Amino acid sequence: MGYLIKNADSVYLTNQGKTGHLSTDIRIREGIISEIGTNLRPSVNETESVIDASNCVIYPGFVNTHHHLAQSVLKGVPEGLNKGLGEWLAAVPYRFWPKIPPNLMYLSAKLGLYELIRSGTTTCADHHYLYHENTSDELEQAVWQAAEDMGVRFSLCRGSATATGNHKGMKSLNIQPESLDRVLDKMTITRSQQHDSSPYSMKKLCVAPTSLIHSAPQNDLIELSRFARKHKLKMHSHLLEVEFDQAQAKLNHQISAVEYAANSEWLGEDVWFAHLVKADQAAISILAETKTGMSHCPTSNCRLGSGISPAYQMDEKGMTVSMGVDGSASSESGSMLQELNLAWLLQRSQNGAERVTVDKVVQWGSENGAKILGLKTGKIEIGYAADLVLYRVDEPRVCTVHERLLAPVMCGEPMKVYHSFINGKPIITKGEFTQLDTEKLCSDLQQEMTKFLAQII
Ligand SMILES: [Zn+2]
Repeated sequence: MGYLIKNADSVYLTNQGKTGHLSTDIRIREGIISEIGTNLRPSVNETESVIDASNCVIYPGFVNTHHHLAQSVLKGVPEGLNKGLGEWLAAVPYRFWPKIPPNLMYLSAKLGLYELIRSGTTTCADHHYLYHENTSDELEQAVWQAAEDMGVRFSLCRGSATATGNHKGMKSLNIQPESLDRVLDKMTITRSQQHDSSPYSMKKLCVAPTSLIHSAPQNDLIELSRFARKHKLKMHSHLLEVEFDQAQAKLNHQISAVEYAANSEWLGEDVWFAHLVKADQAAISILAETKTGMSHCPTSNCRLGSGISPAYQMDEKGMTVSMGVDGSASSESGSMLQELNLAWLLQRSQNGAERVTVDKVVQWGSENGAKILGLKTGKIEIGYAADLVLYRVDEPRVCTVHERLLAPVMCGEPMKVYHSFINGKPIITKGEFTQLDTEKLCSDLQQEMTKFLAQII
């Protein structure tokens, strides 16, 4: 089954690093963009549906490189609402996450993916953490299953916390951190069952200790990076979201946080870090030299009062900057489009209007994320995976925008995704999810949330 998308208002095309805003038709065949051109004719030999993209602009699907799908059921928890990162972690994720049962984890992941897809996302890297010595395999399994059922392109960043010392979150719940052997054994099994290393992969496993500075002794970090590199798995963690990382690295190791990452074999083209809000010039230089990537999560950084990441400076130095939503417990909108809109505004406020264009943040939100995850998606080019999003631009909020291709990022939410294709399959058609009963998802969530909260309190 193939598709021919015709009559679009305009399309984000990327060629040799330059973005063109051309009107054009796109043919999808077997999950791949097979043809791009004007006035393409429907195939007479193959089964092909024609999609009318009149009054739509076409974007490459967004690639979210940092999320926590378990947090979709932890939005707006009152005790964490006006707290910075440290106190918020204790009041929200650590308090609730380890008690989430598998059926609620499945619904939470589905909700998070629904939110992401409806905002224009087609790939999600989920940092699934808070494993402990007795964590049921069913929890991680629920997230893999939700991704498969939603049809999203998915990377599971397998969190871990093997530090035996002062893990506050673990201590407060009286649970034991995992042993390194358990982490490696579990990842070996998951890799054999789920991981596909191909550039068109729908499922990838990444190695992702929860916090590079706080979650593992240095020897464990080295073992984890060697495991990842032996199996060619990408590597991910939180780093420098707040000053505490730098202070702890200096106190415990007498070097900066990024120097500690270097000594722990955690820098390189196969590594990306979420946040890096507090990265200084010295840190950026090392990260850029080693081609380490980053995930910019502006909404969460604003919500927790952490600051504004120097994403523009990192991009200028040659780092691969990508975009992430982070968990919905600190980024309640759950929207990649909001992240791009906010990144565009915040980075301009810091660096000047001429420096950060809409094209630039679209590149961060699509092509760069795909590069970090090792996927052939994020660009509208022949041979790339057919992960495409069509936004309507004839609605009152946007119909008067002069350059309509820029409207989704410039105007921000709410924007209507009219069609969404992932791996060449229609996930949203004429504004409706093709496989998801959203009313049932909501009622199931409300029912399970009531039971969950009654048990917690
Ligand atoms: Zn995070």
